[in-house]
Amino acid sequence: MAKVVRAIRGMNDILPEESFHWEFFEQIIRKWLAIYGYRNIRTPIVEQTDLFVRSIGEVTDIVEKEMYTFVDHLNNDSLTLRPEGTASCVRAVVEHNLLYASPQRLYYSGPMFRHERPQKGRYRQFHQVGVEALGFVGPDIDAELIIMCARLWQMLGITGLRLEIGTLGNAESRALHRARLIKYFMQYEEMLDEDSRRRLHTNPLRILDSKNPKLQEIINSAPKLIDDLDEESRAHFETLQQILRNRGIDYEINLRLVRGLDYYNRTVFEWVTDRLGAQGTVCAGGRYDGLIEQIGGKSAPACGFAMGVERLLALMLECGEDVSRPTPDVYIVHQGETVIDFAWKTAEFLRNEGFKAILHCGGGSFKSQMKKADASGARYALIIGDDEVLAQQVTIKPLRENSNQACVELNAVVDIIK
Ligand code: ATP
Ligand code: MG
Repeated sequence: MAKVVRAIRGMNDILPEESFHWEFFEQIIRKWLAIYGYRNIRTPIVEQTDLFVRSIGEVTDIVEKEMYTFVDHLNNDSLTLRPEGTASCVRAVVEHNLLYASPQRLYYSGPMFRHERPQKGRYRQFHQVGVEALGFVGPDIDAELIIMCARLWQMLGITGLRLEIGTLGNAESRALHRARLIKYFMQYEEMLDEDSRRRLHTNPLRILDSKNPKLQEIINSAPKLIDDLDEESRAHFETLQQILRNRGIDYEINLRLVRGLDYYNRTVFEWVTDRLGAQGTVCAGGRYDGLIEQIGGKSAPACGFAMGVERLLALMLECGEDVSRPTPDVYIVHQGETVIDFAWKTAEFLRNEGFKAILHCGGGSFKSQMKKADASGARYALIIGDDEVLAQQVTIKPLRENSNQACVELNAVVDIIK
């Protein structure tokens, strides 16, 4: 036998036993985005490496160690599988000048790729749904993004998520803060781990995001950006909170919220659960007013978030959402050369009426076909033999309840299974 080919580690197949959960989720997502007026944008999965380096930032986990970057040997271009969606979305918006006339409410969804250590809730190919509002200065739109998340959790039956919000200020206040952080962390240089020491002078904010437990005490006592915050950012943050309070959205202020990407400013937020172990952040986002200009567009404000589909699905099921398995309405059992045409006709007729009909394929005895009908989960078996064809009727047999079978015309089948 030939050697078995396996999927790549950390990149999962989603089999039918699981994929109906995804379809349920996707249906809700579409409805949710539609009622808030967000429109879909679809960008390629591969982009020039430079796009991600420039937008996400050189001194970040993603760019330093998680990107799937390769050379397209046919023309020597350096390409990268997208590790996130914002950069591609902004690239497309700039390239096609979408902000020319008015701001845009957009969303994307699909697989993202990061070379991380695979574990529960962390994969190398994972899926995100991302929402980007481009051309709005906020903070009303910042609030809209958060409020729409809260509604989605309701629609998915998810409870107990904690909202953390923070602010990163503007570029000047971050520069001030950066200088203070470098000064502060330099006192503890000996105690920092390798990553943090390397980032001390390039990107000290990232030290705050370190997950190393040994550093938490030093991090907790570090200078807080809120003390260096510029007046406009302070007002922006205040108004955001006011809207959230008016809408009854609970939040905690987390002044250590940094986010793993460089492009954020002002508002940042995360939705976190304690029910999924270490991988507790299911949705994260914020404002990125500088990004559009940074990748070559005309300066425009923007704000967005991305959520991890795998983590949200796990949480939805954990919260007890009961997703019903899709089953056919009828399974059509038939036997004999002369009946097949009537069986086809019956199947297509029921499909025209919007029913889910499986027409048995592959022959076999009535008994074995009935077994398959039962295993399919169908509510009814339709049995078609010579007698039925003669009468132009079908025998309908309930499979999930104890009632008798009946021989009826096709129109009557519609009434019965409705
Ligand atoms: P983390 O701190 O868990 O590494 P992150 O800050 O790198 O997350 P983002 O880039 O903000 O994550 O992505 C948004 C969301 O996408 C995350 O909150 C999470 O739900 C999901 N996500 C990120 N990386 C992965 C992954 N490797 N596998 C599964 N989901 C992921
Ligand atoms: Mg990460």
